[in-house]
Parts: sequence; structure tokens; C-alpha cells
Amino acid sequence: MTLTLSVDTRRWRDHLRTLQSDVPGLVPVAKGNGYGFGLEVLAREAMRIRASAIAVGVAEEVTQVRLAGYTRDVVVLNPWRPGDAVHTALLSDPRVVTTVSRPEDLAAISAQAPRARVQLELLTSMRRHGLTLEQLEGIDLHDLTFEGWTIHLPATGSLTEAEELARAALAVHRGAVWVSHLDVADYRLLRTRLGVQTRMRIGTRLWLGAPETLTTRATVLDVHRITRGQRLGYHQSRAPRDGWIVVVSGGTAHGIALAAPVPQRSLRQRGVTVAEGLLEAAGQSLSPFTLGRRKRPFAEPPHMHSSMLFVPGRHPGVAVGDEVPVTCRMTTTRFDQIAWR
Ligand SMILES: *Cc1c(COP(=O)(O)O)cnc(C)c1O
Repeated sequence: MTLTLSVDTRRWRDHLRTLQSDVPGLVPVAKGNGYGFGLEVLAREAMRIRASAIAVGVAEEVTQVRLAGYTRDVVVLNPWRPGDAVHTALLSDPRVVTTVSRPEDLAAISAQAPRARVQLELLTSMRRHGLTLEQLEGIDLHDLTFEGWTIHLPATGSLTEAEELARAALAVHRGAVWVSHLDVADYRLLRTRLGVQTRMRIGTRLWLGAPETLTTRATVLDVHRITRGQRLGYHQSRAPRDGWIVVVSGGTAHGIALAAPVPQRSLRQRGVTVAEGLLEAAGQSLSPFTLGRRKRPFAEPPHMHSSMLFVPGRHPGVAVGDEVPVTCRMTTTRFDQIAWR
């Protein structure tokens, strides 16, 4: 009675292999909730495709991918900061590459681990972390082991930006160039143009790039008739009409229905927001669960491991034990089970 991610294993792995052969120097990214698969699965798959390095988000995740059997290089993407004891302890680990994004951190790192393997991050149009071009002048690498420059681009990265930054950096110090978010053709162009070793970190397009191979389902745990005005749930709100309460697996512990701001670009997306706003104004909000081909509203906010849905009118046509489709945001969902098919 679980929230399940089903994987069409052969086709999913075919996709991993295809992307890997299209992207020479691919570095799988395994961070956070492991894109819905968990870090253990991703570490295992990265070993299986013989990736020579894997990238994690934070130092704490290094142990997790290693316990899962990943034995090669691990790149920590979040740049090192003074006071991060876990990351600092890993500086002298010969299989860990640390990202550095401020000149003063180079000196601090070399004082603690003179031979630490580092890559230097360049500030991009993301404006998240990184050295500015002005800061590149007079950069002092001390005796640190230089693993190259790293460029983290916005979701649709531009070849021009990557190339300009890389050239400026390579003029200061030659080395490998690590990028993210370029499309495959642009990445291959960059690779030939720069004439240095290049690597591309990929998470989403690797693990979630063949959505037709992934299915997410919840299990029906209970179905009850309810009449208009009857109270229900923790909050004892009243049923708006006669209908049915359907209890399904999947709740806050799984990351179900966690809202995050959506970048509002298209009118269509705005339309969705308006529709959801109207539902909310009516005291209901649309759940990600589909019953009878329609997304149904929550009867009340999701519980820890299950959610109560409201279906007005006739019997919803589901029974205890049935599996129903659920739309999951893969970077926030924790599945109870992965079914390898
Ligand atoms: C998360 C991350 C990636 C991978 O991003 P995806 O969009 O999942 O491919 C690459 N590089 C850095 C620095 C990241 O933080």
C-alpha cells in the first residue's frame, strides 16, 4: 500500500547509455532526494555506466554515494565555505573534488589541506556562486591540485556565455572546463572549440530525461460515502456536497503537494494558477491524484502518509488496493518503493 515509482528498466538504462555516448565526459549528478530515485540508486547506476566521476550537492552526500558502492571521484557542487566541518574533513580525501568560488577560500583551503583537489567556479548569469572575471586576475592556487574551471549556466544555457567565460579563465590558467545545462550540440561545439578536456554535469536530463519509462502511482487505501454537510478529517470541515472520500497513499512525508513558486512565463501557466486559485477560494485545492481520468481536489490538506480526496456525486469507481496515477514533482518526492520492471 505504497507510493510507487515504476521504472521500465531496460528502456530507462538504454536512455542513460545513449545520453552518455552523446555527451563525452558526462558527469551524473546525484543530489538531494536523488531525483526521486534516491542517492543509492543513482550511485549504483553511475557505477554501472562506469562514470569516472559523480557530482553531489553537499559534502554530507559523499558518504551516502560511497556507502551505496560508488568508488570513483566525487565532486561536491556547493562551494566550500569556512565553518563547514564535514566538507573541510573531506578536503584531503584523494577521491573528492571541492568547488571553490571565492579567492579567500583558496588560501583557507590550502592552509588546511595543501594538496586538496579543487575546481574553481566562475560567476555566470545565474549570479549564484563564482569568481568574477576581475577576481581571476592574480588568483593564487597555492599548491592546490587544480581540476579545472566550472561554469553553472541557467536552465537553457548559452554556448556564447560558456565559451566567453571559459576562454577568459583558460587565459589565466589552463585546465579542464566543467559545465552544466548546455544542449548536447552546443556542448560538443564548446568541446571542439576550447581544445581542453571538458565535462558536463547532468541530473534532470539523465535520470528524468525519458519520462515515458517512469510511472508514478498511489494506492487506494479506503473509500467512504459522505453526505453534504458531514464533517471529515483532522480539521472537521464539512463535505461541500454528497459524494465520496477516497483515501490514497502519499502525503507530506512523501513530499506530496509541497508548493513552490512557479516561474510564471506563459499565459497557459497563469491560467492554471487562476483555476487553482478559484478552487482554493472555494475551500478546495486540486490534488495531484487522478481518479476517473480527472485530478480530484483534496478533502483536506495531505496527512503524513496519505491524502483524503473528495469525489462529488457517483461512486468514484475505485476500490481498496487499486493503483491510481499521481503527478509527482520528482525533486521533492520520496517514494516508498521503486518497482523495476
Ligand atoms: C544541480 C546541479 C546540476 C544538475 O542540474 P540538472 O538541471 O538537474 O541537470 C549541475 N550543476 C550544478 C552546479 C548543480 O547544482
